[in-house]
Amino acid sequence: MSLIDQFGRTIEYLRISITDRCNFRCSYCMPVEGLPWLPKADILSYEEIRDIVAELAPLGLRRVRITGGEPTIRPQLETLVRMLRDVPAIEDIALSTNGVKLPELAARLAGAGLDRVNMSADSLRPERIAHIARRDLSFEPVRAAQAAQAAGLLPIKLNVVVMRGINDDELVDFARLTLENPWHVRFIELMPVGSLEASTDQHVVPSDEVLERVSDVLGPLSASTGPSRGNGPAAYYAVDGAAGTIGVITPMTHTYCGQCNRVRLTADGRLRTCLFGDHEVDLRGPLRAGHLLEPHVRRALADKPEQHALLSRRNGGLRALSQVGG
Ligand code: SAM
Ligand code: SF4
Repeated sequence: MSLIDQFGRTIEYLRISITDRCNFRCSYCMPVEGLPWLPKADILSYEEIRDIVAELAPLGLRRVRITGGEPTIRPQLETLVRMLRDVPAIEDIALSTNGVKLPELAARLAGAGLDRVNMSADSLRPERIAHIARRDLSFEPVRAAQAAQAAGLLPIKLNVVVMRGINDDELVDFARLTLENPWHVRFIELMPVGSLEASTDQHVVPSDEVLERVSDVLGPLSASTGPSRGNGPAAYYAVDGAAGTIGVITPMTHTYCGQCNRVRLTADGRLRTCLFGDHEVDLRGPLRAGHLLEPHVRRALADKPEQHALLSRRNGGLRALSQVGG
């Protein structure tokens, strides 16, 4: 029987965090000194992740996303991709990454069976990226996206967290990338979670303003269906004749919880039914004890909240997205 929550939403998508660690320290996500990392023994092995996915697939799981922390810093990522590819009924395997290692890994990951990639890029200027990410890794997002494209990891989505006074002067530069490239540039509203240094109201730019500022320069934007794969919370638009699209993800100004089709697996094996809030059920214990996971998964779904508590619990002890697989 499929996975349906108490509000009738069918769950067919799992976001899997495979590490809480990262080679960046984005100011909106992590404190500069990092976070108290999970002990290695608590982190699910690739085999354990595969076993969880294999048990959920007959219940209706069809799509998975590998995320983190930064998933590409975990060794032999292609081994996990290959294992997930071999699980029957899994139709789509995607990766969320900061992109630093894509030029090196894209072809290998595609060869192992990865379908597509979402890449974070908060600036097109290497020195500004170094400032926002607090690590100077000479990262060039356009080069990384080109590597993903050359490897066939399509559609390519570029995620930009928009921060007033920090990177909002680059909105049009990002949007211009969609004119020539078949890329989907998605502007994300800054959320007040994790390291709060930059996550204050003064930095939030509502998505309606983002679209207005882009169309003021590039011309009218028409609603678009967006990329054919990966139905998520983004609304898409396009400049007339452009190769790609412009998306907005609006956790702060519009909620999309009614269509939520996803749950999350943390790196230490907890099933999280909402990105924000405390709704978690341990799967690692039952898995390591050789028990069936289905009753635990159904218990978690029975408790999946109707809506996230982001707006009501502003800055109130929410875990960083790197800890819950944002
Ligand atoms: N390290 C990978 C990356 O950066 O894409 C995957 C994990 S990261 C936690 C997933 C997404 O969460 C990224 O697109 C990141 O920009 C977003 N994110 C993290 N903290 C955020 C915040 N406070 N507000 C909005 N988006 C955030
Ligand atoms: Fe790392 Fe991604 Fe968080 Fe940036 S947003 S610190 S890249 S996990």
